[in-house]
Amino acid sequence: MRDESNPQGWSLDTLAIRAGHERTFEQEHSEPIFPTSSFVYGSAAEAARKFSGEEPGNVYSRFTNPTVSTFEKRLAALEGGERCVATSSGMSAILATALALLSSGDEIVASRSLFGSTVSLFDKYLGKLGITTRYVELSNLDAWEAAITPQTRLLFVETPSNPLSEVVDIAALAELAHQHEVLLAVDNCFLTPALQQPLALGADLVIHSATKYLDGQGRAVGGAVVGSHALLEEVFGVVRTCGPCMSPFNAWIFTKGLETLSLRMRAHCENALALAQWLQAHPAVNKVYYSGLPDHPQHEQAKRQQKGFGAVLGFEVINGREGAWQVIDATRMLSITGNLGDVKTTITHPGTTTHGRLSEAQKEAAGIAEGLVRVAVGLESLTDIKRDLALGLDSLLSD
Ligand SMILES: *Cc1c(COP(=O)(O)O)cnc(C)c1O
Repeated sequence: MRDESNPQGWSLDTLAIRAGHERTFEQEHSEPIFPTSSFVYGSAAEAARKFSGEEPGNVYSRFTNPTVSTFEKRLAALEGGERCVATSSGMSAILATALALLSSGDEIVASRSLFGSTVSLFDKYLGKLGITTRYVELSNLDAWEAAITPQTRLLFVETPSNPLSEVVDIAALAELAHQHEVLLAVDNCFLTPALQQPLALGADLVIHSATKYLDGQGRAVGGAVVGSHALLEEVFGVVRTCGPCMSPFNAWIFTKGLETLSLRMRAHCENALALAQWLQAHPAVNKVYYSGLPDHPQHEQAKRQQKGFGAVLGFEVINGREGAWQVIDATRMLSITGNLGDVKTTITHPGTTTHGRLSEAQKEAAGIAEGLVRVAVGLESLTDIKRDLALGLDSLLSD
């Protein structure tokens, strides 16, 4: 049989389509689904060898499943990691990483503008276990360094941030982490390996919510962690024992999603950049936050470490919250939802949804203005997306 599991030298676009699938004796062309909870053995002796780990192979789908393994191998190949472990959601990827690597008394340093549930996981649930988190301004390396103590074990970052598209120098942050013998984990959900490969820049772990762009079509919830064999063996131990594993059906959806990842991300970026430029020129818009615009403070850094600027952008309209709601409510096509990473364009008011739990002072510190609107740009025609946003924006000028 040809060895297609370790395709040396293939480019990312090829890996996304071909990595990880080991064809069965049925000679299927497309990746199969194995919807089975358990696996059988030819003899009692074989069962004993498989259970003890002496002989590799599937035992139970909470541990391993061939469809899930295909997704894991493919994503590991795309991120340039030795190993990937798939999880039931992005949140359980973060939880499994924390349980695997941290103990009571340990500290995390994280960027301030994290996904809301990540903040709750760190503060409320890891807090209960005696693991504390300090938050720092994403792009300020001095602030990261100042927050590291002898108890710090993990730096955790999302770059670019949501919804202001701030960017940190991943290579510099990795160097800082390693100087202090600390691990760096990057939540790469917004850019995906098609646009940013944190491991190549020195990060130790990549976290994914596969729910977003890896599927890209809003069909399933899932997550993944990618990194070295040694670190991932610990994460695998947590998933195998504590149970937040990915279902074979979802793994199949994500595997097929990866096949079009590069193509979709290129199209998302193209639409988002054109929309950002159009918004910047609209008289009802005060400011646009998108790292693809030359006046963005970290535009040059983004260009250096990213192959594209992603598709999530923020813009501030005139008339504060009233203006923002007017723009959202005037849309006829855009989906009003906090979700993102979909071929369908979504729109939300961060101040009263995704960032609604923050106090006024926290919102101000995070730069979440009342008039801020977030759009996760999808793959509909740009003309139609603009037309939908113009309904509200133009009406703000005629009021
Ligand atoms: C959605 C998201 C998560 C959580 O993923 P789920 O699949 O919803 O559990 C984590 N990080 C970021 C940046 C996200 O956008």
